[in-house]
Amino acid sequence: MKRRLLIALGSATWTLPLLAKPDDPRLVAVRVWPARDYTRVTLESDKPLQARHFLTPDGPNRLVLDIEGLDLSPQLKELVAKTQPDDPNIAGVRVGQYLPRVVRIVFDLRQPIAPQVFTLKPVAAYQHRLVLDLYPKQPAADDPLLALIEEREREDARQSARESSSPPTSKAESSPSANVASAAAISPATQPEPPKPTPAPLPRLPRHGRMERLVVVALDAGHGGEDPGAIGPTGLREKDVVLAVARMLRERLEEVPGLRVLMTRDGDYFVPLQERVRKARKVGADLFVSIHADAFMRPQARGASVFVLSDGAATSAAARWMAQRENAADAVGGLNVGAVKDRVVLQTLLDMSTTAQIEDSLKLGADVLGQLGKVGRLHKPRVEQAGFAVLKAPDIPSILVETAFISNPEEEAKLRDSAYRRRLVDAMARGLLRYLARRPALRRDVKPST
Ligand SMILES: [Zn+2]
Repeated sequence: MKRRLLIALGSATWTLPLLAKPDDPRLVAVRVWPARDYTRVTLESDKPLQARHFLTPDGPNRLVLDIEGLDLSPQLKELVAKTQPDDPNIAGVRVGQYLPRVVRIVFDLRQPIAPQVFTLKPVAAYQHRLVLDLYPKQPAADDPLLALIEEREREDARQSARESSSPPTSKAESSPSANVASAAAISPATQPEPPKPTPAPLPRLPRHGRMERLVVVALDAGHGGEDPGAIGPTGLREKDVVLAVARMLRERLEEVPGLRVLMTRDGDYFVPLQERVRKARKVGADLFVSIHADAFMRPQARGASVFVLSDGAATSAAARWMAQRENAADAVGGLNVGAVKDRVVLQTLLDMSTTAQIEDSLKLGADVLGQLGKVGRLHKPRVEQAGFAVLKAPDIPSILVETAFISNPEEEAKLRDSAYRRRLVDAMARGLLRYLARRPALRRDVKPST
């Protein structure tokens, strides 16, 4: 099979003349986004591309893509160089003029792949895009999401073993009635720490202690891949800054015994907003923290802000504007609308955002905002609310932190500075741990969803 393909490619390349027509599409860019979850290849052109693809039926795993009306341009040849040797899904790429007006791209795959091939209309700075998403048929054995789910299951088993041998009071505490709703019913902490009979209360400064049970914090680095997020005056990209900050925060939080972090993305690739929420729910995350560093309408705007979901109108025009900006990430990043699984079901679920979730999120937001105010300027002295799609997990307290405005030259410089990032991360960690320490009734009995 390999020989035949190569021969076809080789002979076509030298025997057939190139017959480009003036109205043929012209390739403007080729991009590859390798990640463990999936590798994306984007071909951007000035007109829509017509393409067919097939997986080779036997022999080594290969994906063949034939594109009509395209020449073997330098951009297309770049695709070979742009494939990384450590790409988890693509082992190699070959490009050739297969027929007079057909370019053939052969992807040698590292494993069986379920490809999604789709086109996107021009949006933001992009022209037409032909996208190939190469999803492994089997997730990697060392997938961090799976590892966390397994750890959580073991923890739940231990927990129920403990409960079955302890007095009924403790049983009642983690019964289904002690879910998010009742957690939210507890009045805002006017008294510092309500006495709890069993088990041992969470330490007041959890960084010196241990979580009473496994706590999972979902850290969501905004944007990624085709979606750079906002870009600062000297070119710093939001997607890079927020990933660096999220990784630093993960390191900081995982110093706390009994605390685990799930990163919704741990690389430079596109993750749809609903997928971020789905990953967090899958591991039964206790908190969801989306990290951003956006531009604003005015370059003078500065300071950190914290947002939570609103169940009605946004608390300010600026909050609404910010939510619209963030919600556009799927269009820019390139969502394959046709392939979103159980789209309607998931959307319905995500629209069930409860008052309880918002109440908890406001408390979490206030804790984080309070700490951020100690290390730098705040944009607004209170937690703001708007319809952010990524904050819609109905059962997980969720906040979106705008760490700074990358559009402000001074703040862009701060975001580049690792000492400033460290202070930022310490403040966020303190806020999150404060919230966790004060809210032992947080334990959700919602099982990790599938
Ligand atoms: Zn953002």
